Amino acid sequence: MRYFENIVDTIGDTPLVRLRNVTEGMAPTVLAKIEYFNPGGSVKDRIAVRMVEAAERSGELKPGGTIVEPTSGNTGVGLALVAQLRGYRCVFVCPDKVSEDKQNVLRAYGAEVVVCPTAVAPEDPRSYYNVSDRLTREIPGAWKPNQYANPNNPRSHYESTGPEIWKQTDGRITHFVAGVGTGGTISGIGRYLKEVSDGRVQIIGADPEGSVYSGGTGRPYLVEGVGEDFWPETYDKGVCDRIIEVSDKASFDLTRRLAREEGLLVGGSCGMAAEAALEVARHAGPDDVIVVLLPDGGRGYLSKIFNDDWMARYGFLSTGRVGATVADVL
Ligand code: PMP
Repeated sequence: MRYFENIVDTIGDTPLVRLRNVTEGMAPTVLAKIEYFNPGGSVKDRIAVRMVEAAERSGELKPGGTIVEPTSGNTGVGLALVAQLRGYRCVFVCPDKVSEDKQNVLRAYGAEVVVCPTAVAPEDPRSYYNVSDRLTREIPGAWKPNQYANPNNPRSHYESTGPEIWKQTDGRITHFVAGVGTGGTISGIGRYLKEVSDGRVQIIGADPEGSVYSGGTGRPYLVEGVGEDFWPETYDKGVCDRIIEVSDKASFDLTRRLAREEGLLVGGSCGMAAEAALEVARHAGPDDVIVVLLPDGGRGYLSKIFNDDWMARYGFLSTGRVGATVADVL
């Protein structure tokens, strides 16, 4: 018999898939690391299991305890998966721009969800950072993983995702591209790839227009899970050779093309990272191997990015209507 002891053991070892159509006319090999293959559907399963295990070892999380975390959804799913198996309660705090679909997924895993306004400063008592702090103080036995400062966030990528990419490309990777949210993904993978290649692999961060990583002030943007209005401890400022700024429109356009042209139904931050990877690919040579990490799947965005009315409302709709019918064509 071949089986896993539990669903958490299936986290990691995600496939690399070549992007063939959206890269038309470009010289290098562009490979996507498809993180929706993780059981919770995103890259965040990796950090969730690592942060919980470390907290159990250190005694910060005790049997029957409560996990409280500000999360845009994906980290919550990862934490809820692990918590459910080990008997912890979960309370998640998320900004109101996070889609209802994503909030409902957290509730389906048995978590409680508290929704906070996006359009307030991080120091505002209503901000999702402050609300989660208060809940952590007030709920007995509460532990906050704090993915924005927890060293086990980047460490999980340094120890798992980075080595996977190096092995899968036989050490031929020349560029690594990922979106930056907490910075855990790019810092952990970037540091590993820099070390193992003696500094040869170029690390490129993708950032929404308006976010601090590309020099913005934190003004609102619609792509979810990436960009920040402050500098988290989990982001290693020395790791990126370059940051590429991507607009919401370019992110969502490419997200839709990935579904139609590559068969990859992925989220908006995937389109953003892939757009940055294509920008790198346009100026790279035939021997270059560019790996772009795609953090999650697209089902949580059906009522937004894949909804023509939503796209049109923000002026994002230019080509390829999702709901185009035979009648539209005739
Ligand atoms: N994309 C999505 C959809 C995410 O949820 C996250 C995590 N915030 C990221 C990208 C960015 O990953 P990281 O926090 O490791 O920088």
